[in-house]
Amino acid sequence: MKDGVLLLGATGSVGESSLRALRALQIPLLGFSFCNNLEIAKKIILEFNPLWVLCFNAEYESDIKRISSKITVFKNLDGLQEILDFKESFSVINAMGGMAGLFPSYYTLLSKRKLILANKESIVAGSKLLLKERQYKNQLIPIDSEHWSLFLLSQNIKKSSIKNFILTASGGPFWKTPVNKLLDVDKKAVLKHPVWSMGASISVGSALMSNKGLEVLEAKELFNVPENRIKVFIHPQAKVHGMLRLKDGSLITHVSETDMIEPIKNALLYPDMPVGEDFSFTNQKGFDFFSVDFNRFPLLKLAYEASKKGHFYQIVYTVANEAAIELFLKDKLSFYNLPKVVERVFNEIPKEAVLDLDTVLKISDKVRNWTNAIVLNKGES
Ligand code: NAD
Ligand code: MG
Repeated sequence: MKDGVLLLGATGSVGESSLRALRALQIPLLGFSFCNNLEIAKKIILEFNPLWVLCFNAEYESDIKRISSKITVFKNLDGLQEILDFKESFSVINAMGGMAGLFPSYYTLLSKRKLILANKESIVAGSKLLLKERQYKNQLIPIDSEHWSLFLLSQNIKKSSIKNFILTASGGPFWKTPVNKLLDVDKKAVLKHPVWSMGASISVGSALMSNKGLEVLEAKELFNVPENRIKVFIHPQAKVHGMLRLKDGSLITHVSETDMIEPIKNALLYPDMPVGEDFSFTNQKGFDFFSVDFNRFPLLKLAYEASKKGHFYQIVYTVANEAAIELFLKDKLSFYNLPKVVERVFNEIPKEAVLDLDTVLKISDKVRNWTNAIVLNKGES
């Protein structure tokens, strides 16, 4: 009997891909969390008939109870801990967006349940403080497509034989646009990703390559390698997700469709593998690879600096980027000025010691306020 699943962030883009994976594999959805999208939450309840709903927006509690009297509705992180304490056997998919995913990842690791993780912010901002809570090997399976590929590729390779971990990036919508033309790109153009269909925040992060910056940091933490051994190349077709450069100079790679359902299905069944359609390489029009111009993507460059400067700066990088993207999505900050704001926060905020995950959250609040203050009080738009 397959384990059931608790799906955190069920109403988002990875949430939707996760539901497709559960349908395909006929794995029961025992519970899910959502924040604001009540209509999607209702549809999920009607289709999957879960036992529990974790409703992060208390306003919707009564609406949920009205749909099904059998469902138990929980609120906030205490509710999550209660669910994790139940005896039912289930894995947790953390597909929540942003820093809100940090404590859910932490509690899941403590509960000894398998953590299938899309929320890269928890790994980057939580760093060793989070990852040291892993209770057994492979308790955490990454489903960010690049990291799933690297995880898979590195399974049977001696770590000492791996020279570089290579992440590919589609480049987003503007990797060939002249920088001066970025002055007047509008929100619609930024959100229109050429190959991936994703949530709004990560789509902006892809256009800026700060998403790839987060992924460099995610790879550093997950595979425990220094940032100078992690390389990024632009691969517009987004079919080659990750590569390992081996000590002898050769490359091994993982090629699959541009669809989050593949890593999710694999993570759900790991160490087994789902049966799937053959990836047809004879139908491809060719794969291109380009090196990245760091001057054009200053936030990718900043991620490497954050890594060198240590944990505090990884938190600053994650949260300043997240807060600046929120301001952009609310039309308070232009796309062109967004990297400058993140760089400014990074360079100006005073360093603090990171003692535990509560400190991570305190620093996160400070960075968010700092970013908002720069933009809203000082007119950086
Ligand atoms: P999304 O914005 O589409 O969905 C986010 C989900 O998290 C929603 O269900 C929302 O209700 C929930 N959520 C957001 N803020 C919350 C809060 N404060 N409290 C409680 N719930 C909250 O985002 P997405 O594109 O699905 O991405 C989710 C995560 O997965 C991100 O960390 C992203 O970087 C990562 N990721 C996404 C993709 C992708 O293809 N979209 C790929 C790899 C990794
Ligand atoms: Mg990715």
